[in-house]
Amino acid sequence: NDVLKLEQLEKSYNPGKPNAIAVLKGVNLTIPCGQVVALVAPSGAGKSTLLHIAGLLDTPDSGRVILQGQDMTGAKDAARTAARREALGFVYQFHHLLPEFTALENITLPQLANGTSRKAAEARARDLLARVGLTERAGHRPSALSGGEQQRVAFCRALANAPALLLADEPTGNLDPGTSETVFSALMELVRATGLSALIATHNLELAARMDRVLRLTDGQLVEA
Ligand code: ADP
Ligand code: ADP
Repeated sequence: NDVLKLEQLEKSYNPGKPNAIAVLKGVNLTIPCGQVVALVAPSGAGKSTLLHIAGLLDTPDSGRVILQGQDMTGAKDAARTAARREALGFVYQFHHLLPEFTALENITLPQLANGTSRKAAEARARDLLARVGLTERAGHRPSALSGGEQQRVAFCRALANAPALLLADEPTGNLDPGTSETVFSALMELVRATGLSALIATHNLELAARMDRVLRLTDGQLVEA
């Protein structure tokens, strides 16, 4: 039972032009349900390209993206958007929380958009906030939270609609080492408690080593580190 399968992904930018660049040259990856995978790559190796394709935000030139057993490669935009909303959670280096809403509201809103009742959405938001130690911060806007707190709220928002797969791009990249450690631990506890599968890009090899498996993106291919 695999949550994600990437088969022979290839992706180039500016094909046929003098500045052409082949970024992915046959990427293969299978993530079984519940597995947490670290993606390690030097800057420019194609990590964002890979995460965008896995997250159905971009399409490969060739190869297949299979999400929960469904081939999404040639799927229509509406189906890709629906799959993104229902099956995927995203976390970035910057939190991207809505500044005019509280922490609780930032976690509630995506659930309302997916048809969850307000009562159930708020209950889930409070439960997620409690899991990352932010019960007391539910009513604060992002500007009133520390960087580490903002990022923990962003994790809760990513998990709000109970996705099958979390895609994270340097989730602690903006934080100082101490905060980074605390925030990463909170993320891992959240992921483990919910049985979530995850693909987490990081430059931090110590954090990578705490995941189930470490993959390196090098010369357009994924290799076990
Ligand atoms: P990473 O996230 O590992 O830093 P990216 O996936 O962002 O790498 O980029 C990989 C390579 O592809 C880089 O050389 C980058 O300059 C290039 N690239 C990324 N996006 C585009 C684009 N839209 N057009 C042209 N080149 C791009
Ligand atoms: P970067 O990785 O370049 O620093 P950010 O961390 O600021 O980027 O996150 C912005 C990213 O969100 C963009 O790269 C963009 O491709 C991506 N994105 C665009 N639309 C969506 C969407 N609907 N859901 C999630 N991410 C999206």
